[in-house]
Amino acid sequence: MSFDLSPEETLIVEAVRELAAGPNGRAHWRERALANEFPERLWQALADAGYLGILVPEEHGGAGLGLKEMAVLMEAMGSEGMALLLMIVSTVMATIALARHGSGEQKRRHLPGLARGTTRFCFAITEPNAGSNSFRLETLATRDGDGYRIRGQKYFISGVEQAQHVLLVTRTTPHREAADKRSGLSLFIVDTDAPGFTKQVQDTALNETERQWTLFLDDVRVPRSALIGEEGLGHRYLFDLLNPERVAGAAIAVGLGRYVLKKAVAYAKDRKVFSVPIGAHQGLAHPMALAATHLELASLMTRKAACQFDRGETAGPEANMAKMAAADAGLEACDVAIQVHGGNGVALEYGLTDMWWGIRTMRIAPVSREMILNYVAEHVLGLPRSY
Ligand SMILES: Cc1cc2nc3c(=O)[nH]c(=O)nc-3n(C[C@H](O)[C@H](O)[C@H](O)COP(=O)(O)OP(=O)(O)OC[C@H]3O[C@@H](n4cnc5c(N)ncnc54)[C@H](O)[C@@H]3O)c2cc1C
Repeated sequence: MSFDLSPEETLIVEAVRELAAGPNGRAHWRERALANEFPERLWQALADAGYLGILVPEEHGGAGLGLKEMAVLMEAMGSEGMALLLMIVSTVMATIALARHGSGEQKRRHLPGLARGTTRFCFAITEPNAGSNSFRLETLATRDGDGYRIRGQKYFISGVEQAQHVLLVTRTTPHREAADKRSGLSLFIVDTDAPGFTKQVQDTALNETERQWTLFLDDVRVPRSALIGEEGLGHRYLFDLLNPERVAGAAIAVGLGRYVLKKAVAYAKDRKVFSVPIGAHQGLAHPMALAATHLELASLMTRKAACQFDRGETAGPEANMAKMAAADAGLEACDVAIQVHGGNGVALEYGLTDMWWGIRTMRIAPVSREMILNYVAEHVLGLPRSY
């Protein structure tokens, strides 16, 4: 692992900066986010630049690069004030699921479109009755002739309105019949226009480019070819997806933190009260310096986790720690930025309030701060668990 950006990564950062300043960049993203609409032009620009195919193997039309490069891209986008949840679930998670565990047919069918941006997936694991206890999910896929019939409910699923397919986590063995809590999970590709598949929007405070949805699967019939990998081994594939999800989330959180901190620093240099720039006061300078330090540390941990994943390691502890540190640092930076702006911190024209909920959510999703601490306590420190 190198601490420095490679020439390729430096190009990504520079290209994203240029994109953000143009007509398909930050202004387009913000206008769409405030309307809860998807920034199609930004998505297409990312596809045209080859960025949606970073993780797609070359033989399927992608760049065949790794999570390290993907994290650089996502941090760069966050640093320019542009976050796309669909990049986490589609460009990272679905792409890795298919590239690593998909059949030849699934790869040929979906990977080229994922790289071109024409195929989009959402990802659905969370259920109202299971919440953070994902292994207790109840959505059940039962054998039905040469395929499966799926019944269940999911909630807080991002970007379903933008996706042709859901990467759906189900049980194929109900948990009361499973040998242990992990076994009996399976991953399916389900079309979002399949008969029996309905969705209901969830109203949230987020200014996001993807909406949140509750999904209802009422005897949705899928062919056997919709199953990813082997039936009942979903937990193994999930570990390959959830750690990159944490890395991608961490990269976005660091980036967004850098974006709001940049605004704070510029304002603190410019605004004079009591005749000196407010940034001269340590009461403001130190919180900004602390936020900058915490963002840098979180960025390093994110890079480490991404490198480990690319080397074939699970990177569980590192991905979890990176995600928690990044969410905390991003939120700290956003809070400091609002404070530095005084009353203008809540004025819409300064563009901080509309970033707040997106950044605040990083402490909850894709995995909460408490569940990360539980993981670190149990798996890194070897402490007994209470739940
Ligand atoms: C904006 C947004 C987008 C999302 N997108 C997706 C998506 O695309 N796909 C998807 O599948 N899911 C998605 N989620 C769901 C997200 O992953 C869950 O919200 C998250 O995992 C927490 O689950 P929960 O909301 O059910 O909270 P709960 O599990 O009900 O937890 C509530 C609180 O209790 C705490 N808690 C629970 N158990 C423990 C414990 N043992 N010890 C300590 N504290 C505990 C939690 O940390 C949390 O603070 C999204 C959520 C949001 C907000």
